[in-house]
Amino acid sequence: MSWVEAKEYFTNNDVAILPVGSNEQHGPQNPLGTDHLIAKALAEETAKRTGVLCLQVIPFGVSSHHRQFWGTIFISPSTLKNYVKEVCLSLNYYGIRKIVIVNGHGGNLNALAESARELRERGIFVSIFQWWPVVAKFLPELFKPEERRHACAEETSLNLALHSHIVDMSKAVDETPRESMLQSEGVTLPLDTIDYTASGVFGKSTTASAEKGKIVLEVVIGELVKHVNMLKESKIEDLVQKPKV
Ligand SMILES: [Zn+2]
Repeated sequence: MSWVEAKEYFTNNDVAILPVGSNEQHGPQNPLGTDHLIAKALAEETAKRTGVLCLQVIPFGVSSHHRQFWGTIFISPSTLKNYVKEVCLSLNYYGIRKIVIVNGHGGNLNALAESARELRERGIFVSIFQWWPVVAKFLPELFKPEERRHACAEETSLNLALHSHIVDMSKAVDETPRESMLQSEGVTLPLDTIDYTASGVFGKSTTASAEKGKIVLEVVIGELVKHVNMLKESKIEDLVQKPKV
């Protein structure tokens, strides 16, 4: 898009999609870019189907818990929060008031939610979409619980459906994550991925398939399209923060 085309879009639209991901280990079979590549693909297809502008993907995220696995590039939550916030403020300078963040990495969520709250105070409404809860809800039979975790069959299947040439299934492994003795109900521990698994896989990945990935894609993109269309039709006056009572 040139600036002239951008002017045309921003003058006539107040919605945009921003994909955000991470660059972190996803087991021996998947590319480090898994989370940002999936976010980008979901966002771009949704943009095509809704006519809403999709921005470049932000590829780095909050992943320091994967650092012992080579090639993981991690930034702090405050860096991600501010980066995303400033990108959204730039969009707002051109008239965008509603933004859908397509988040490909769960570790980003707290930082993104903080950005969204701060932006709402400034009259910008940001929603955050994540694909895996959609799969759990609408396709509960497609994967077993041990196939749904980090770098397991669910995520690997999406990679196979989207870009199989950068997945090496001959290296896929199944590994049962170790449980910490300190883990009990109600307790959060500051552990890293390496504390749980030697391969980076948190369960079963060898059962991944492109066919399952395609089923996931259709359902997830369908839900994201619905959400974007609803946001498109919503009035910003109904979305901004309410005044004090
Ligand atoms: Zn991932």
